[in-house]
Amino acid sequence: MNPPRLAIIIPCYNEEEVLPSSLKILLGLLTRMAGDGLVAADSYILCVDDCSKDSTWQIVNETHKADGRVKGLSFAHNSGQQNALIAGLLTAMDHCDCAVTIDSDLQDDPEAIIRMVEKFREGCEVVFGVRSSRDTDTWFKRTSARGFYRFQEMMGVETVYDHSEFRLMSNRAIHLLSEYGETNMFLRGIIVRLGLKTAVVACPRRARMAGETKYSLSKMISLSIDGITSFTAQPMRLIFLTGFVLLILDVIVAIYALISYFSHHTTTGWTSLILSVWFLGSLILMGLGIVGEYIGKIYVEVKHRPRYAIREKLFD
Ligand code: UDP
Ligand code: MG
Repeated sequence: MNPPRLAIIIPCYNEEEVLPSSLKILLGLLTRMAGDGLVAADSYILCVDDCSKDSTWQIVNETHKADGRVKGLSFAHNSGQQNALIAGLLTAMDHCDCAVTIDSDLQDDPEAIIRMVEKFREGCEVVFGVRSSRDTDTWFKRTSARGFYRFQEMMGVETVYDHSEFRLMSNRAIHLLSEYGETNMFLRGIIVRLGLKTAVVACPRRARMAGETKYSLSKMISLSIDGITSFTAQPMRLIFLTGFVLLILDVIVAIYALISYFSHHTTTGWTSLILSVWFLGSLILMGLGIVGEYIGKIYVEVKHRPRYAIREKLFD
């Protein structure tokens, strides 16, 4: 097998403080890997500038002039890390054998890319970078991230625990991903569904080299909501379930209300009022749940996702 052409894709948003050193480290890594015959000499780095307000794009331009292995894309609007990653992957799709996505602050150890490429050469199509420790993250970041993974699992979304956007994808994996036409893409959730041979590479999460997180609380919340709502209509099913549980509780409430009524402990009108409030409340919730089931079906239809993922074929 010839050494594969590797594309390293980095989303950048206001990263002037870390980008020059990150590019230097990644270029050094590419040179080393090409020298060892692990990747092709024309492997490259693709920076996707998510409409930064600082000199990020200028840095990409200057580095590109000095070293053609650094390439770039620049967004007209701040569209978020997920879209930057998708744009990078789709651009590199026909120009690489495999692509690694990594954050520009290199909090995930770039040396792990070597192990990722080795796994790719052994036949894995998707290699997940998983954080072996996240001591350098703040307590809030750690707890909220883990809580989010758990909640997603509870809602039936399949994900890889403690894996973020640091991963290798083969050219085939990117092509399969490109068949997902939905606008609200939550990459981590889709990529595990592609049905390809995967592997995991563990690496510790380090502190940001410079600058601060570009994920504001509102961006984190909106990513979490996307992670659930773009995958499952399960929350709507919960509405129906709540209504159903309330309907069962109705029986207990009804017994209590009737006993109170017949033992003359109630004011006039209370019994009928409380019975109708509980009964109608649970009926309304169940009704909403049924409407939700249909909305859930529409939601699955409009996504127009591929119906299945074929792992292997014995058909010429
Ligand atoms: N990023 C982006 N667009 C945004 C926010 C972030 O492209 O609107 C990029 C950012 O430049 C970085 C990556 O997404 O390369 C992850 O962001 P960050 O490191 O700030 O997140 P954290 O590690 O704190 O979760
Ligand atoms: Mg980071």
